[in-house]
Amino acid sequence: MCFGEYILYKSGENYSINSCDTIEMFYNIRTDLDKIKYAVHITKIIQDVTNENENSYKVLQLYLNTLYMISETETDMDFVLSVFKIKLLCILGFKPRVDECVNCGQKENLKHFSIRDNGVKCEECYRQDKSSISISGSTWAALKFIVSSPSKKVFSFHLKDESLKELELLSKIYFNEKMEKEYKLEELW
Ligand SMILES: [Zn+2]
Repeated sequence: MCFGEYILYKSGENYSINSCDTIEMFYNIRTDLDKIKYAVHITKIIQDVTNENENSYKVLQLYLNTLYMISETETDMDFVLSVFKIKLLCILGFKPRVDECVNCGQKENLKHFSIRDNGVKCEECYRQDKSSISISGSTWAALKFIVSSPSKKVFSFHLKDESLKELELLSKIYFNEKMEKEYKLEELW
């Protein structure tokens, strides 16, 4: 998990590496089994959403910022993973609507998140929607922050225990649903 700059030489269908420079080693990841576990999980997700010869600059930015958080800080890694998943969905075109009820446009008292309709819902509208998850005001504020912040700043907020659990649950269900795949954090050993 090193970030580097590679100079490639193309001959026919194949590339050869002419030179490479290491830019960031993320050294601390290799000295901590928990950090490795989360970094590997995130890397597998990144491999699923990127293709060779495709410009993935925004995904790369988020990936590097996420690896930095894991390597260089002691931030709760479930928090980092949850924020990463929601921000990645935004980049991939699944940005949830969080400023108003996706159904009626109401702007206040939005305490439910609809997995099916990609956004928050009010007290009236959520009743018809079995895919909605109840969220606290703090979780709603966190969602708004994640959606509107650049990747560099997206981890710069705090959530208390209960709201953190909500964000984890929401990001997990929403991510699996949109990616149409069951992602699980696996033990490596
Ligand atoms: Zn509504």
